[in-house]
Amino acid sequence: LGPGAEFDRIRAIAEALGADAAGLGDDCAELGRAEGIIVASTDTSVEHVHFERNWLTLREIGHRSTAAALSDLAACGATPLGVVVAVAAPADTSSQELAELMAGAGDAARSAGTTIKGGDLSRGDCLMVTPTVIGTAERPVHRAGAKAGDGVWVTGVVGGARAALEAFRARIAPDPGARERFVAPVPRIAEGRWLAAHGARAMLDLSDGVVADAAHLAAASGVEVEIQLEQIPVHPDAVREALTVRAEPVIFAAKGGEDYELMVALTEADGERIAAEFEAAHGRTLTRIGTCHRGQGVRPMFRGSRLRLQGFDHFQ
Ligand SMILES: [Mg+2]
Repeated sequence: LGPGAEFDRIRAIAEALGADAAGLGDDCAELGRAEGIIVASTDTSVEHVHFERNWLTLREIGHRSTAAALSDLAACGATPLGVVVAVAAPADTSSQELAELMAGAGDAARSAGTTIKGGDLSRGDCLMVTPTVIGTAERPVHRAGAKAGDGVWVTGVVGGARAALEAFRARIAPDPGARERFVAPVPRIAEGRWLAAHGARAMLDLSDGVVADAAHLAAASGVEVEIQLEQIPVHPDAVREALTVRAEPVIFAAKGGEDYELMVALTEADGERIAAEFEAAHGRTLTRIGTCHRGQGVRPMFRGSRLRLQGFDHFQ
């Protein structure tokens, strides 16, 4: 890298990333040779839209945005090959601040077994982080593929990120467990690969919320997804937060986005066995929350009757 303020910043970033980066500063990132299908996904996190600077440290902002992008690789059963990150930041952002932001991106990359391979830096009106993730999958799993009769399952517990978000918005400190789910979601890479190899018919990651994401699965697969809200496994901090705001915990959790767990359709015949093997392999629950039927859309059921629910929509 030659002289100049931009390159000084990139040097500071490279130093902060250390072993979490590889090959920074060239015209192109090299991702190596790969078997299988190459897959890619990109995800933008914008200040005032996705986060506020006073909620999170810069390191957490970098971590969260990169983990969210990597979660899309998990959702198709892919293994990451690398991450490139485009950053726009106000002119007064220091080298140190950018290095902190990118160290967070490096933390997320490391947690997914990969490295930062490059990126781009620009001046902008507010902070904007756009990680692009590239991976490879033997057989990428899509949102389409669920059939009538399939069970719909989710990994882990949900609602933790929403509990943190509601607390941030109310200007109170979130419970530590919920805060962790919001600031440092763990992309379920190993789980996604395992599910892809063990019968996942359709899969996606929970970014918009259980009900909204079930609607995506339904639309892509051409089925109706019936969700039994009582079956949703709720993060303990989300139960607490829901009770504080006088909401039903399962409904609170069902409407919460950004948990980055996986939703997967499995055949009726194999679902129970696959779930037991999954739990043994990953030490994480796989819980049945619904069933696919002939039809369209999502049917959220609560205590025997249908509920009208809105999911999370960036444009509402
Ligand atoms: Mg996704």
